[in-house]
Amino acid sequence: MILRFRQHVTGYLHANRVNVTGNRQPPLEATGRAGITWEPHPPIGGLAVTHNSYAVHNSYPVMCRACGQAGFIGGDAPPHSCPACHSTDIRSHEELFQLSLAHVDCDAFYASVEKRDDPSIRDRPVIVGGRERGVVAAACYIARKFGVRSAMPTWQALKRCPDAVVIRPRMDHYVAIGRDIRNRMLALTPLVQPVSIDEAFLDLTGTQKLHGCSPAEALVRLQNSIRDEIGITVSVGLSGTKSLAKMASDRDKPDGFFIIGMAESRDWLAPQPVSVLFGLGKSAVARLEAAGIASCGQLVTAPADQLTGILGRRAGAIRDLAAGIDPRAVTPERDVKSISSETTFIKDLGSAAALEAELEVLCQKVSTRLKAQNLAGGRVTLKLKRPDHRILTRSQTLSSRTDKAHMLFTVGRALLAGELGGKRRYRLLGIGAEQLGPPDGVSLLDLAGDTDARQDSLEAAIDDIHGRLGQDALQSGRVFTRQHRPERDPTRQRAALEKLDEEDDGPKQDPSDNAGKTSG
Ligand SMILES: [Mg+2]
Repeated sequence: MILRFRQHVTGYLHANRVNVTGNRQPPLEATGRAGITWEPHPPIGGLAVTHNSYAVHNSYPVMCRACGQAGFIGGDAPPHSCPACHSTDIRSHEELFQLSLAHVDCDAFYASVEKRDDPSIRDRPVIVGGRERGVVAAACYIARKFGVRSAMPTWQALKRCPDAVVIRPRMDHYVAIGRDIRNRMLALTPLVQPVSIDEAFLDLTGTQKLHGCSPAEALVRLQNSIRDEIGITVSVGLSGTKSLAKMASDRDKPDGFFIIGMAESRDWLAPQPVSVLFGLGKSAVARLEAAGIASCGQLVTAPADQLTGILGRRAGAIRDLAAGIDPRAVTPERDVKSISSETTFIKDLGSAAALEAELEVLCQKVSTRLKAQNLAGGRVTLKLKRPDHRILTRSQTLSSRTDKAHMLFTVGRALLAGELGGKRRYRLLGIGAEQLGPPDGVSLLDLAGDTDARQDSLEAAIDDIHGRLGQDALQSGRVFTRQHRPERDPTRQRAALEKLDEEDDGPKQDPSDNAGKTSG
């Protein structure tokens, strides 16, 4: 039985000192304010007691990020500082002890690691990436103030921030640190779904008993252990769905802890731009905006017919996202063996120009997904299906792994060339990257005089434009001709290209498909 008595002292509720959930109560002497204590919150999972059945009038769930204390505090308003340690770094939210889905994201990961390893650059703008012809892989928060962004060509970044320290990426080093962080996450819950080297979703439902604390407190401990033992900061978003958790972690960076409650989610989302929705492709965002649907609130209230016209069959799921509904579960890591994309034509294709245009679009898609997952392929496989449904595959192993669309296309085109000519026609074309691993990092470096490096920086610039304006904003002449000059290419299959485009949009089961993701 829990005893409770009230004694108002400087506006706070003096609660009992029965320790329900563990040893989290501070000694009275430590508070510095005699008689003010934390009212421990009940174990949420095990006993199925919510704070509502336990809370008294004007009792606020509060957690201190500095000292780790958590519980209910009474008063007329949530406190401004921690009664135990006086830190103002506290979080108070109605659903603080109920929410269990989190997105954890390292802050400017590569740059933070470099600053950790070399304290002399701690207060300087740092760019991790290649010089001259390279691109920015990560920029620290000081460099970002100058407008430096990931995937920006380094020369452009240096124009904006001439004093920046440019450091060549050390991928193996980052991967090892990322693995350490991942293991700490896995110590909290087996339900860890990595999105990239430095971020993951965590589902902490049902872990309260194990940890003797709420998910929020466990996450603060994780944050503190990464900061104190690894030496970099992470931002946490806590909510009830993946989409909301991802938005929350973006909201309070660096070293943030942001909470979006389920009860407030719809109101919270209403004024936000549709681009915040996790899993919504860039081209879908552009189409919504073109139709005058700029905010989540507008998306929720838009006529169903109009949304279906813009978003196709995913309209319902996307509208749900905008209303705070996201049924996607956190699915633990599974090894990705290959990343591929294929398309079936309405009419069989035989011309090199048409097939190459299709291949280029597919390579772009595969490349986007590789980059989003921080993976690169060491082997490229071309897949063709003949009119009689017989499948033909041709593969080539690369000298070094790549995530670049132009490299995939070069190899794929060479493989395709051997299968063209005569009366040969195909009903399906696909391209895949296998033997996946982290990118070799070569593409980020400046290789003077190397045409690949030139192609790489061109591709980075194209990625940047696609990221900001959608995939249709910039097209190669090959793809443009195929899409816009049907009279010159009677075999053009507009429907096939549109089908591809649709695959890009809408919420996906796999958040790692989220295109345009860059480190940081
Ligand atoms: Mg990050």
